[in-house]
Amino acid sequence: MNEPAYRLDIDGMGADEPADATGSALRGRPWIGIYFECCSVYARVYRNAAGTLYQGRCPRCQRSLSVPIGPGGTTDRFFKAE
Ligand SMILES: [Zn+2]
Repeated sequence: MNEPAYRLDIDGMGADEPADATGSALRGRPWIGIYFECCSVYARVYRNAAGTLYQGRCPRCQRSLSVPIGPGGTTDRFFKAE
């Protein structure tokens, strides 16, 4: 159980998330969709409280993942961790 943590550096990942049309009034935490190659499973990864990165874990093996948020503004919300 010593898998290294995923760290995705996504060029243009913006701090300004696109409006979430589904239930944004209830929970304001933006998320991105990640496909975890390790277990071939898809999961949502939520932004941290500070808004500096997206953090999550593989739902099966608990391998951690972080995605730093930098300047830019991609509207892509689905990525692959490999
Ligand atoms: Zn996994």
